[in-house]
Formats: sequence, structure tokens, C-alpha cells
Amino acid sequence: MGATLRPPCAGAGSAREPLVDDLVEVITAGTPADVGAHPVPESYAGAVVLADEVGLFDGVPVPERDPRRSLHLREVETPEPGPGEALVAVMSAAVNYNTVWSAVFAPLDTFGFLRRYARRGGFAARHDRPYHVLGSDLAGVVLRVGPGVGRWQPGDRVVAHCLSVELESPDGHGDTMLDPEQRIWGYETNFGGLAHLALVKSNQLMPKPGHLSWEEAAASGLVNSTAYRQLVSRNGAQIKQGDNVLIWGAAGGLGSYAVQLTRNAGAVPICVVSSPRKAELIRAMGAELVIDRSAEGFEFWRDGAPDPKEWRRFGARIRELTGGEDPDVVFEHPGRDTFGASVYVARRGGTIVTCASTTGFEHHFDNRYLWMHLKRIVGSHFANYREAWEANRLIAKGMIHPTLSVAYPLADVGAAVQAVHRNRHTGKVGVLCLAPSEGLGVTDPELRARHEKAINHFRAA
Ligand code: NAP
Repeated sequence: MGATLRPPCAGAGSAREPLVDDLVEVITAGTPADVGAHPVPESYAGAVVLADEVGLFDGVPVPERDPRRSLHLREVETPEPGPGEALVAVMSAAVNYNTVWSAVFAPLDTFGFLRRYARRGGFAARHDRPYHVLGSDLAGVVLRVGPGVGRWQPGDRVVAHCLSVELESPDGHGDTMLDPEQRIWGYETNFGGLAHLALVKSNQLMPKPGHLSWEEAAASGLVNSTAYRQLVSRNGAQIKQGDNVLIWGAAGGLGSYAVQLTRNAGAVPICVVSSPRKAELIRAMGAELVIDRSAEGFEFWRDGAPDPKEWRRFGARIRELTGGEDPDVVFEHPGRDTFGASVYVARRGGTIVTCASTTGFEHHFDNRYLWMHLKRIVGSHFANYREAWEANRLIAKGMIHPTLSVAYPLADVGAAVQAVHRNRHTGKVGVLCLAPSEGLGVTDPELRARHEKAINHFRAA
């Protein structure tokens, strides 16, 4: 398969290729058999970064790098689904922070991942391209399946989680996240969801929740599954009723699901945000204990070092809110700026569960507070197959709701990613791919009616 890299004949949002428009028509009005009979376009539009642009931001500090310069909508060749794979017509996708990392080429460009994957040979070799189609969430319709796929057929309405594993090593047989060939689809593999078509392993597919529109259904997969493993799973903190759970970034992608999972467990979220608007949004979800870190002037990292005085002030503030109690669990992801405070404020025997380091990978904490108070730090990454399925089941039953705040057309994907990079968003930022407008794809209006307000909660923000 050669690499064509021309701009799409037309971007999403303007007149598109006839085949693509036909496809949308067939998905919207046709039967599954019609979808299976519809010809697969030879190429499709995808949001890509380019291998020959990885030096684009050299010398530019990461916070100042603008994804609108590095993300391009390009026409790329459609890959044939290999054994155990599926080609999906993507109705909608979502921005994740990994798309920010890819688009600003930090901490490294993602082409090294693709080259390494391709070295496996066979079908994996297709992933090494001079372009990387990004995106680790989707909601859409199965267009074709490869050999050996039995559960899924053309026409099935699906969402995809982002765990790509080979499962050839016993290391991953108990917990698929421990597979040595574990990759995040659309970040460490090619052909991601921010596109008109996407290639996934069929094991990534899960039923699309019928009460949600395409863009709502695409919003949750990555962050909801990650928060589920961190907080609920036995691989994470296994929160229980009454636990105090400190949640950084409670109105952000991960945090907005962590708040819901904590409340569902009968535990008590202690929510940290950075504006009155976010504080209000979280309070309106039922969280009573909220700290606005900006309004209260918390600065845990100053002049290149942590500030233990701020940890103590923060711990005192938490006790003021809880009536003297410390967090049983800290939901960590900001990293360098907050980690010292997280270790300090966790209660004796408490757990700090971390999945990221947005503000810096090298963490500084005072180890005396860890060992003498018998705390533990748990590393967590996405979710295994089973956890991702269980997390999606909660969405499908209306027990966890998408926190979509806005949806951009695919043509504006750079602006969508920039909003997340600049921390201007709340909840999740969606991207309409083949979906011609918002609000389409609902097949269970009754369940939707029961949860309409909660589904729209972040929209009103
Ligand atoms: P997000 O939507 O941008 O939310 C992150 C939140 O962090 C923001 O809403 C912000 O809230 C808070 N924050 C930012 N800077 C902060 C600071 N200096 N101190 C305290 N809080 C700060 O991103 P996300 O989707 O939740 O992802 C967060 C991180 O987790 C990213 O690094 C991402 O790559 C990582 N992640 C990892 C996995 C995994 O599987 N390992 C999965 C998902 C995400 P306020 O400004 O309101 O405080």
C-alpha cells in the first residue's frame, strides 16, 4: 500500500466525496446488509501529524506549541482489515490528552512507536507511514471485518476502546494491560479515530450505548475506562462507601468520570478545580467538597521546587471540608506540580493512584510521609479488556454519563486539540467525523429521556 497524502478533496463540513456521502446515507437509512454491500472508499480523510514535520516546534516551549500548526486533515489510503481486525466508519471521535502530546511532539514524536510496531512484520508493518492518523476514541459503524472475526458484522453500531494487544505472551493473559505488546490505539498505532474511517482490532469493539448520540457515545471510552481501573478495579484503589477521594482536575476529562464513579461507589469526592465556573459545574453534579486551587492561590511547585508549606495548607483545607479527615485515595494525574501534595495529604495507609504526569514526569515528594504512614503509590494505565467493557456497560446502563461539553467538526480538529492543550475546556471535547450534525444516532429514546439532563450537564457549562 503506497502512501497518498493529499489534502482531502473537501474537508468535513463542506461538500465531501460522493462515496463518503453515500456511506453516511447508507449508515443512517440503510440496513446492515446495505452497509456490508457498500464499497469501501479507497482513501479517507484523517487528522494526521507528518513525519517530516517532527522538528516543527524545535526550540518552542511545550505550552506554546500550537496543535493547529501540526495537525492536518489529509486523504490517506484505506488499510485492508487483517485477521482479527475491523474497519469502522467513524461517526464521531473525541480529543484525548494523548492527541495533545502527539500534536506537540512531546515528550517525543509518535513515529518511533509506529516504527517499533512495524518491526513485528506482517500486518503490523502497515502502521509505519510518513503520517500518523491520531485519535483513541470513536463511535461508528463496522464497515468490514477481517478473517477470523465472528462477533462483529458490517452494520454493527459500536464504540472502540483503545487497548491494542497481541496476547501472544502469557504475561498479558491475566490482565491484558500487562501484555508486553500493549499499545494505545491511535497514539502508539496508526489509523486512529480522528478520521472518517479507522482500523481497530475487533477485540476493541463494544456495543454503542443506544441512548447516546454519536458524539456523546464517542466521548467516554478512554477516560472513563482509565478512571474505572484507577478507582474501582482491584487493579486500582478499589474504593468503597464512605472513602474520601481527592480528585485533581475534577471538571476535566478523567476527573469528570472519577467524580461520577466515586459518587456511584458511595464514596465522597473532594474535587479540585481552577475556576468558579468549574466549581459550579461540579457542585451541580452533586459534589459538595470543592477546592478552587486558583481562587485559593495554591501553588505547590514554585521556582523549580515543591513547596511543603503549600502541602500543609492544602491538607488543612481538606480537613476543614471533611470535618478533620484525610483522603483515603488520591486520584493523581497532574504529576510534578501536585504529586508531593498528593503523597502528603493521603491518610495513613491511604493510596495515591496515578496514571499521568501532565505537568512533568519527575516527581518530588517527601518519602517520610509515604513509608512512616504506610501509604502506597499505585501506577495505573488505561484499562484491560474486561475493565474497559465494564466501564462501557456503566455508560450503556445510564449509570455514568458522558461529560461532552462541545463538539468540533473534523476540519477544526486543530482548534479542538488546542482548547484541551490550553486547559480552556471542561469535560470532554468531541469531534464530528462522518456525522453530518450533532444529536444523531440515538436508538433508545426512552433511556435517554430518563437521563437527558445529566447527559447534557457539561453542554450547558
Ligand atoms: P484534561 O481534560 O486536560 O484534564 C486535566 C485536568 O488537570 C484539567 O482539567 C485541570 O483542571 C487539571 N490540571 C491541569 N494542570 C494542573 C496543575 N498544574 N495542577 C493541578 N491540576 C491541574 O486531561 P485528561 O484527559 O483528564 O488527562 C489528564 C492527564 O492524564 C493527561 O496527562 C493525559 O495524558 C493522562 N491520561 C493518562 C491515561 C492513561 O491511561 N495513563 C488515560 C487518560 C489520560 P483544573 O485546571 O480545573 O484544576
